[in-house]
Amino acid sequence: MSAFNDPMFKDETAAREALESIRWPTGPVCVHCGATEHVVRVAGEKQSHRPGLLYCNDCKSQFTVTVGTVFERSKIPLTKWWMATFLLCSSKKGISSHQISRTLGVTYKTAWFMTHRIREAMKDGPMGLIGGPGVTVEADETVMAKSPKTRKTGPLHAKPDRQVLSLVERGGTLRSVYLDGKDVRGALVKHFDDRSRLVTDGSTVYKGQADQHESVDHSKFEWARGDVHTNTLEGFFSIFKRGMVGTYQHCKTGHLHRYLAEFDFRFNNLSKLGVSDRARTVIAMKGIEGKRLTYRGPDKA
Ligand SMILES: [Zn+2]
Repeated sequence: MSAFNDPMFKDETAAREALESIRWPTGPVCVHCGATEHVVRVAGEKQSHRPGLLYCNDCKSQFTVTVGTVFERSKIPLTKWWMATFLLCSSKKGISSHQISRTLGVTYKTAWFMTHRIREAMKDGPMGLIGGPGVTVEADETVMAKSPKTRKTGPLHAKPDRQVLSLVERGGTLRSVYLDGKDVRGALVKHFDDRSRLVTDGSTVYKGQADQHESVDHSKFEWARGDVHTNTLEGFFSIFKRGMVGTYQHCKTGHLHRYLAEFDFRFNNLSKLGVSDRARTVIAMKGIEGKRLTYRGPDKA
């Protein structure tokens, strides 16, 4: 059976109802004043009514389920939002905007716009620190170097390679941070609970950064000593890099944080943890609320 047999991929009303049940599991909540008691559905299918329009008798204002979400003011049918979210959630190495454009029958510009909004939905909410007392955390960096074939030379192109730091709790949450020329230690202060047991490679930047720190020395061909290794992150970086090179053909630095959110999201909702593609899609949809995007479209990409 095709994954797209689900009514939310085919029928606009079903798509809206599915979104409403995720955003408001216990019934509509006014997006303007938070009221739940006196919210009514605006009946009738007159042209003057947007489908799914709700009215709040407390603050006398109208809204739909997309108001205050990353889908706000988009003219794209919700069925297509569901499909694009499903495709991004179920493709291990990501899916290009060109592919989304062909599969959904939308323009490339629209597909690009959609995928970036969905990545925004995949981002974690307010973030606490990774790790804690009794928790083992792997930390490692990776560099997104340009291929020597496409790398331009000369002083104008002497930009440093982009460095990403990832932290993962063993059996728990993974988080990736674009370092943007800043050092690892500053990022650790922001994202890492130093009461953890930290495991890293032999890099000196991690020395003294946690109550307990153990490392393996890759330069001496030591990759694992008992449970001291960074294999979880090696595996994650491998998928991330294959995705960025193979699927996305690199990206502008300003968008890198969103691609990182996408790969982090899939890792944190892995199928091996029993999260199905559909369940992962629903989890992504839960993140559509309260996200702000400041760019308008691919023109400024
Ligand atoms: Zn209200």
